[in-house]
Amino acid sequence: MVERPLSVVKELLENSLDAGADFIEIEIRDGGVGLIRVKDNGHGMDEADLKLAFERHATSKIREFQDLYQLHTFGFRGEALPSIAAVSQVEMTSCTREEAVGHKIRIDGGSFLEFSETASTPGTVMEVKNLFYNIPARRKFLKSSSYEAGLIGDLVSKYAIGHPAVRFRYVSNGQLQLDTAGLNTAEQRMAYVYGSNLEKLIVPVQKTEIGAGRFLEAWLVREEITRNNRGQEVFFVNGRLVKSAELSHTLEESYYTLIAKGRFPVALLKLTMPGSELDVNIHPAKTEIKINGYEQLKPKIVEVLKDALWEANITKNAFLPETIAPAAHREEAQKPLSGDKKQPVYLVSMR
Ligand code: ADP
Ligand code: MG
Repeated sequence: MVERPLSVVKELLENSLDAGADFIEIEIRDGGVGLIRVKDNGHGMDEADLKLAFERHATSKIREFQDLYQLHTFGFRGEALPSIAAVSQVEMTSCTREEAVGHKIRIDGGSFLEFSETASTPGTVMEVKNLFYNIPARRKFLKSSSYEAGLIGDLVSKYAIGHPAVRFRYVSNGQLQLDTAGLNTAEQRMAYVYGSNLEKLIVPVQKTEIGAGRFLEAWLVREEITRNNRGQEVFFVNGRLVKSAELSHTLEESYYTLIAKGRFPVALLKLTMPGSELDVNIHPAKTEIKINGYEQLKPKIVEVLKDALWEANITKNAFLPETIAPAAHREEAQKPLSGDKKQPVYLVSMR
């Protein structure tokens, strides 16, 4: 179900990533209601695939029957494009590397308008205009366009952090909000989005097996920098940005006693596991996930993260001159970003 402009952008970003793109440009107008345009340099679709893309359940993800079970539990919908096209005016242009010419399809409120050849470079451009123009009740439910744009900016910045090999460029109402060109590590991306003062405080946790076929990789910002909400606790499961109360609690438990009550860490966690272990259907927007057998994974995750934080803590204190009390150090690290020369262009998600 298309809930708001944010849900459209999430689906389109994930499609571009699925297509193997390493450059994704997102442009929106009026909080995404007027326009959402996502351009990627992924593998694109040929004529037949583009025609199929808007058919319900025409997903390319089902290659073999046994995929069905796994996909059904996570990332499988195969309905994003038709659902979006039903509530907006859509134009999708795509071209594969093998084709000399691209193709374009136009759909208006779910009705097919046009299919034609068009000049195009390899990749895909999806344009979604006038979202919910045919469902006034849905449109009324949306908040101000700056609020909707803020949600989208936050999403894009999180994807930029979680996929550092992909360049993201994001423009809202003609103004550049984010461009990650030249920033190719999670550390650089976190510093760019959340403040350059935290780059030196990031504790990377190498990919660790936390159970059979289950892996954890993390970037934890040390306890000197905290926030007053969970907005910068970022979780990716199998490459998808997810919300998870379980993962939040696990992360916060790992920082336990290091940060004060009511404060929250800045951190990126990436988990990979078999898709059959995930259930995404507990939330209608399908961003809240449930991991089967999480009770077994949790202690291991806490152990790995806690060890990394305490090790960093010990190392830090061992090298700190005695004249620099920890409290002074803390104050330094928490200086407001306004005094920061290398301030990121992108500010929407700062808290
Ligand atoms: P799903 O992603 O679950 O398969 P979607 O409705 O999001 O379903 O997309 C339908 C299909 O259209 C995809 O399976 C894929 O084959 C194709 N597709 C969508 N977006 C892109 C893109 N940006 N690049 C290449 N192929 C795409
Ligand atoms: Mg999709």
